Amino acid sequence: MENRIYNFSAGPAVLPEEVLLEAQKDLFALPGVGMSILEISHRSKTYDAIHQEAKEGLKQLLNIPDDYTILFLQGGASLQFSMVPLNLMPPKNKADYILTGSWSKKAMKEAKRVGTVNVAATTEEGEGDKKYFKRIPKQSELKLDPDAAYVHFTSNNTIFGTEWQTEPEVGNVPLVCDASSDILSKPLDIKKYGLIYAGAQKNMGPSGVTLVIIRKDLLERSQDSLHTMLNYKIHAENDSLYNTPNTFGIYIIKLVTKWLLGLGGLEEMFKINKKKAQLLYDCIDQSGGFYKGHAEKDSRSLMNVTFNLATEELEKKLIDEATKAGFSGLKGHRSVGGLRASIYNAFPVKGVEALVDFMKDFQKRNG
Ligand SMILES: *Cc1c(COP(=O)(O)O)cnc(C)c1O
Repeated sequence: MENRIYNFSAGPAVLPEEVLLEAQKDLFALPGVGMSILEISHRSKTYDAIHQEAKEGLKQLLNIPDDYTILFLQGGASLQFSMVPLNLMPPKNKADYILTGSWSKKAMKEAKRVGTVNVAATTEEGEGDKKYFKRIPKQSELKLDPDAAYVHFTSNNTIFGTEWQTEPEVGNVPLVCDASSDILSKPLDIKKYGLIYAGAQKNMGPSGVTLVIIRKDLLERSQDSLHTMLNYKIHAENDSLYNTPNTFGIYIIKLVTKWLLGLGGLEEMFKINKKKAQLLYDCIDQSGGFYKGHAEKDSRSLMNVTFNLATEELEKKLIDEATKAGFSGLKGHRSVGGLRASIYNAFPVKGVEALVDFMKDFQKRNG
């Protein structure tokens, strides 16, 4: 078999080797079925079992209470930027958005097409095309409207490498979260949320399937006048099978949840994620300024570690040498520059250790 390299891609991203090997085996014929997941009806008993197991796995891992519905939709997290306001904003037609990065801004842009957006806080800094975010706002900075239809925030800012350490307190207003890049990385108290959405391709599976977890009472907000495919209530009534879902993506989610449960669940995963991030941040902090972390320390992400070197030239040199040494995907997002190591659930501890060794050696040779 081809050797696998260390994949630091921000998304689509690394998946557990056990999951890939099982999928590879099943891709010729599912045991006892004689056909693969790619070839069977979404109305078949075999598929239905997979669909239910994927939901059951998520329910167990995240402790999802019975008054929540799990949906598997399409159109990426980006379609949720529209579906959330279309379904949840009326009749008040106003919502609070907390801006902590590019994805929150994109979410807000779509919400503005539906109703009035109150920017409850923004941590954007800089001027013109040099704007950036490097921190999560404090609770005291939030200017919340107690009458808003919901409050939207982005739990992990994939591009800037910042992450909420705990949810914002929003009283009785439903909390809506884009958790695309840290879902399943740590335990969550689902009861604090009205709706959570996440594209699968960072921490759960392949691209093309989006998880939505919604409190059932909020389904009543979806109006009949909405287009069918944009209506949460209709997707919920049809168990995400109104049309053909991304059957393969949901099958991979099922395998990923099984893998996580086998590891010991999200408490265990969280411990490993903290360990991995600590290794990298320690390397940055102990480099005497050779490596500079982008995010403020109390806002650092466990999933996307962003940092810079003194010059762009040196950054390019490191990326080139790292690529040759088998570390892929370290280039920072084009809007931030520098480097970004995405170390999602499936990224192995030994890969982080190898990168740290490489970075220390690079500093010795170039410091
Ligand atoms: C990647 C990402 C998105 C966009 O996801 P798509 O599935 O490409 O639409 C949105 N929000 C966050 C936080 C992301 O990391």
